[in-house]
Amino acid sequence: MKPPHAAASSRPTVDYPEPPTSEELPIELPAGSRWGVCLSHDIDHLGLREHLVDGFLLRYGFNIARQNLLRRWRPGRAVGAWWGIARAALGHDPWDVLEELLEAEARAGVKSTWFIAVRSGLGINYRPPAIQRAVDRLRAAGQEVGLHGQCSGDAAGLAEEVRELAAICGAPVRGLRMHYLRLGREVLDGMQAAGLEYDSTVMDRGNLDPDQHPLPGPRRLREGLLEIPLHVMDSTLFSVTGLGLDLAGARDYVRRLGDRAAELGRVVTVNLHPNSYSSQDPEIKQWYDILLSELTARSDVWLTDFRGLVERIRW
Ligand SMILES: [Zn+2]
Repeated sequence: MKPPHAAASSRPTVDYPEPPTSEELPIELPAGSRWGVCLSHDIDHLGLREHLVDGFLLRYGFNIARQNLLRRWRPGRAVGAWWGIARAALGHDPWDVLEELLEAEARAGVKSTWFIAVRSGLGINYRPPAIQRAVDRLRAAGQEVGLHGQCSGDAAGLAEEVRELAAICGAPVRGLRMHYLRLGREVLDGMQAAGLEYDSTVMDRGNLDPDQHPLPGPRRLREGLLEIPLHVMDSTLFSVTGLGLDLAGARDYVRRLGDRAAELGRVVTVNLHPNSYSSQDPEIKQWYDILLSELTARSDVWLTDFRGLVERIRW
């Protein structure tokens, strides 16, 4: 019999675009830690209001129905989320949560890596002034800012995205995660041209069973370039096109994955989309708050962002 999570996600695996040039590289955990968690955020939206004229809200409204009505009959949840769209039109933006998420992480005493895009497209529609404000705020809070890349088939385009983000940051950019996890050789060419150090886009969804998850570690992609695979994504846990878990199921999943990581001495990489940390997705917000409080209550877990993780990879 197949383990319950093994085939539950209909989302495809994101593989290496070419064979890595190393085996899995060891991560030196800080003294006293048995395993670790690396926190990251893909910024697909800075607000719902940026979508009032681009047609995205129609797809989003349809997805609310799909998430709440087809497999899980929760009409109250759908009505609440649609009401959130209406309120956004009236001025209160439920996806404007950057400050709230920063506060939650500051309370927990953790840092995370925020991947932000500089190009619109594929559902992303925030503009340069909003990007600058977000980057300034994140950097003032001491957070790492990486690129949420868009140019998946164009090395020069990707390198240009990196340069633009570095100019916005006023500092070099070290890391990347591609939007929609669209990774190809051109991305690696662009990363090398722009001097990036790491990518975290590869995601093996072939075996999501938390008791048997391989939790693949970092590998060298090319000279000077690391790939640090992604393990846990909010949408993979909660979406009906992913594992379709509820809050209790997602808590249990991560707890078991933590046991697995402790057994293997691994660092679990997590991605929470900031807009999911909102009243539009109350279960995901609650899940992340609980995750932070459970992890920080333990003494055997090392919590880090990608900056901290890269420093401890021996390569
Ligand atoms: Zn994205």
